[in-house]
Amino acid sequence: MNAFEQMESEVRSYSRTWPVVFDHAQGSWLYDEDGRRYLDFFAGAGALNYGHNPPVLKRALMDYIARDGVAHSLDMFTVARRRFLTTLHETVLAPRALDYRVVFPGPGGTNAVEAALKLARRVTGRTTVVGFTNSFHGMTLGALAVSGNAAKRAAAGVPLGHAVSMPYDGYPGSAPELLDRMIGDSGSGLDKPAAVIVETVQGEGGVHAAEDDWLRALAAVCRRHGVLLIVDDVQMGCGRVGPFFSFEDAGIVPDMVCLSKSIGGYGLPLALTLIRPELDVWKPGDHNGTFRGVGPAFVTGAAALRAYWSGNDLEKAVRRSGERLATALGEITRGYHDGAPTVKGRGLAAGLDFRSHGDRAGAIAAQVSAEAFRRGLLVETSGADGSVVKLLPPLTVSDAELDQGVDILGASVDATLHG
Ligand code: PLP
Repeated sequence: MNAFEQMESEVRSYSRTWPVVFDHAQGSWLYDEDGRRYLDFFAGAGALNYGHNPPVLKRALMDYIARDGVAHSLDMFTVARRRFLTTLHETVLAPRALDYRVVFPGPGGTNAVEAALKLARRVTGRTTVVGFTNSFHGMTLGALAVSGNAAKRAAAGVPLGHAVSMPYDGYPGSAPELLDRMIGDSGSGLDKPAAVIVETVQGEGGVHAAEDDWLRALAAVCRRHGVLLIVDDVQMGCGRVGPFFSFEDAGIVPDMVCLSKSIGGYGLPLALTLIRPELDVWKPGDHNGTFRGVGPAFVTGAAALRAYWSGNDLEKAVRRSGERLATALGEITRGYHDGAPTVKGRGLAAGLDFRSHGDRAGAIAAQVSAEAFRRGLLVETSGADGSVVKLLPPLTVSDAELDQGVDILGASVDATLHG
């Protein structure tokens, strides 16, 4: 442990939740250097939707490396980049009749968000962007400005501006009609926004899922006022809630979509900002960055799209596993009279919410996560006060693994609330 403690900054966080040294991984399992195995219901915070080292992606990656395929290329043309783009078109965009141009903005989710915010302001000539309570869009300053979490915002060290926070679905006072009224009312104090940025399910903010009706109403408000709608699908895209894009069930078509995490397929860094073609007002080099052409990520990303999104088997499997998970979590909550956690989420983004415990909720959720770790299950907490235990199993999880994870979670909740 010494190398980490002596050399790494205090800023590290996940290694505090799981203080072991991981060595290798396969499917839904991570192994530490002492050979102990852990069922991974964290899945790289959504970057490992297809599990660890899926054989079909590993083979594509090893072949590419073995033939000296281009590893790094900024935004130069490469065979791997073309293959990724055509595969994205064939497996994802064309079957959904979606017409988006692709911006490669830099490797992380926050880069995809920054590109969307920047372009929305440029296209509309307006500066304000509406975000939502409990949202999370990344750690760079623009993305933080539209994020809700007070501690993360405070860490920015400068005032965060040009953003307004509105209540998300389920939050007191939430209604797209309020936004409609405020945008249309010259006395509201809300400058007409360039864009609204929204997650369909708030992963980091506590696994709050917006209803499809709410999303449709929000999209209609944006359309009515000429405000661009950005869906941040960094965590909930790539099948996390069932369909490839998390907004498909709501039947909305955002002006821009941010993708990262699992789009690289193998846990390799890749991000996309998808934009309606009419919005493509960039001049060459307006948005730049060294890592916008990571060859291995193009290869595994394309292989993942071919392997998992050529048909709808994975979507169906996620919907089915999601129901199985929600039912099993419901069983856990039934064991408690007072202080029962509530089940949150959609598809394979699920949460157990301990907010009924008031000020102690964060400590309780943290203890459940620690008890789960002791029993060989990785689950993190989410929400501004950490009061929700969040489950993001790989989408490829088997029923047996799902049941095993829920059993461990149930025992961990029991040990925390009754122990
Ligand atoms: N947007 C959403 C919805 C996220 O959940 C995250 C990260 O969790 C980000 C953006 C930021 O992504 P990254 O950490 O890759 O910058």
